[in-house]
Amino acid sequence: MQNSFLKLIFVSTPIGHIGSGSGGGVELTLSSLMKGLLDLGHQVILVAPDGSKLPAGCSLGKIRHVYGKDQPSWQHKEPDAPIVIPYQGVLPRLWEQALELGVNADAVLNFGYDWLPLWLTPHVNADLFHLISMGGVSNVMQGLVSEVAHFDQSRLAFHTLRQADDYELKTDPVVVGNGFDLDKYEFQLYSGGPLGWVGRIAPEKGLEDAAAVAATLGERLLVWGVMEDERYGAEVEASFPQGTIEWRGFLSTTELQSQLGTCRALINTPKWNEAYGNVVVEAMACGVPVVAYDRGGPGELIVSGETGWLVPPDDIDAMASATNRIGEIDRRACRNWVGRNASQEAFARRVDAWIRTGLAAKFNRT
Ligand code: UDP
Repeated sequence: MQNSFLKLIFVSTPIGHIGSGSGGGVELTLSSLMKGLLDLGHQVILVAPDGSKLPAGCSLGKIRHVYGKDQPSWQHKEPDAPIVIPYQGVLPRLWEQALELGVNADAVLNFGYDWLPLWLTPHVNADLFHLISMGGVSNVMQGLVSEVAHFDQSRLAFHTLRQADDYELKTDPVVVGNGFDLDKYEFQLYSGGPLGWVGRIAPEKGLEDAAAVAATLGERLLVWGVMEDERYGAEVEASFPQGTIEWRGFLSTTELQSQLGTCRALINTPKWNEAYGNVVVEAMACGVPVVAYDRGGPGELIVSGETGWLVPPDDIDAMASATNRIGEIDRRACRNWVGRNASQEAFARRVDAWIRTGLAAKFNRT
């Protein structure tokens, strides 16, 4: 099978259609991987909520739309919250379609962070693989990831080691990182621009800390992202001098990168164990250094002193001091790091290797 092409079914997140922004980084990850695997010659059929479009550059792939109510995210639930699947929910319908197609495919790749596909893994004929997109935010999910790991850990991959650390695994995790099409990100050398922040406007992203850094330095902070929690967004804005936050809205990748690339630094302040941190790498792809807490994925993505600065978690003073030292970072080093570590092609090859290893493990068992 080593040199043959694979027939793959991708199952998108049930939280919203691709392009809505509700799926967070998963939307870009899925799009990038689909393009990367198609470029390697594989076949991909994407099963996704109605409204999703085939990602740019993926015209060789196919898409099947599924109708139904959006699935609530685990992100904002209590750790001991039960599993909820809404009446006429899109999640079971995605999986009905995926399992039907999966019978004639080599593998089904799940991008959603949900109970149902993980639970199905040992019970169905199709070979299910899961790219786990979050750290451990729920007891049910942590327990189930661990159960799948004990069934066959080769079915699981993670974005970073720090993310994988949240789960009780049987052996060392497969870490595939992430991948970005560098052609879509223009490198900008000018280093005298404003401060920027990108993310869903939601408490786990810690916008208030970035605003505090900007206020301490007497600067404004440009903010891009989906307004997921309006009350929280308004509270953060009201806590700082007027004009500290400049809302820029949720933009397409093309528009986002052209504006983000003008920034002097990206301030990245997650309060949770961020699985990866797409926006950190997207900023670096434009040549923008990142100042971040040494926590979760960003702690593995930033080389402190070379592509930005890592500071102790929740230490706003340290972050403000590090932001003052951003001129010491060579913007070219940021872009180069992305080319070396997070290209679309390298990501697709890592995922290809993961799936082949998982399929071989099954073959050796039977
Ligand atoms: N994003 C975007 N337009 C915007 C702001 C953000 O497309 O105006 C995307 C960004 O490219 C990234 C995602 O939103 O892929 C956020 O992903 P990240 O991994 O940083 O965090 P998540 O939302 O998954 O927790």
